[in-house]
Amino acid sequence: MSEEKKFLVIAVDGGAASGKSSTSRALAKAHRLMHVDTGAHYRTVALPLLRRGIVCAEDFFASEKPLEDLDLGTVVRGNEAYMSLNGIVPDDDEIRNDKVNAVVSQFASIPEVRRFLFEYQRRQKDVARERGFAGLIMDGRDIGSVIFPDADLRIFLTADPEARARRRAAEGIADSVAERDKLDASRKTAPLACPEGAVKIDSTHLTLEEVVAKISAMISAL
Ligand code: C5P
Repeated sequence: MSEEKKFLVIAVDGGAASGKSSTSRALAKAHRLMHVDTGAHYRTVALPLLRRGIVCAEDFFASEKPLEDLDLGTVVRGNEAYMSLNGIVPDDDEIRNDKVNAVVSQFASIPEVRRFLFEYQRRQKDVARERGFAGLIMDGRDIGSVIFPDADLRIFLTADPEARARRRAAEGIADSVAERDKLDASRKTAPLACPEGAVKIDSTHLTLEEVVAKISAMISAL
């Protein structure tokens, strides 16, 4: 009797430039999963806030309903799911630049912002199922702890801060990796931390291919 294959949910968390997204993208291709980069969600939500002149948490609380009228959607291209805002998926260079890097962790520390994205992120599991994927792989900071604590596999990636800063520099991106990690790890709501029961992988001395191979074997064994 052939047993129907279980729909998989894989959570990948870790600090800035820990290799979460590159690893998850490769795993998505190898295992027919839909990949969702939740860092991009926080970056995308930062855009309309910046447009309204909101540059810190204080501005956010001082403005009237800053998240109202923001309509979130999903656009799937290949194995990647992108968040659209009022029907538009922002270009990569719009959300990955110094301006957004400087404010995104502040906005992500605001409980209203996290609540605003919670249901949307949970819903991506249904999107992946409807689109015929074998599962969902989602990366971020709180996927294994808050969004999908019941995931089939929860991974926490770490790497020395120097290695991570080097990776960003090699990508030609100036990023305050250590500073964002500090903010993300010290916030009250959904702080960056390795959840109990997650598999911790230190990638400081591993290549991307080696990390992918390690996790790939774990997925195949599920
Ligand atoms: O992953 P990336 O570095 O693009 O994420 C940008 C920022 O979004 C992080 O520094 C963090 O403040 C926030 N974030 C978060 N929770 C997630 C994903 C990202 O707070 N699940």
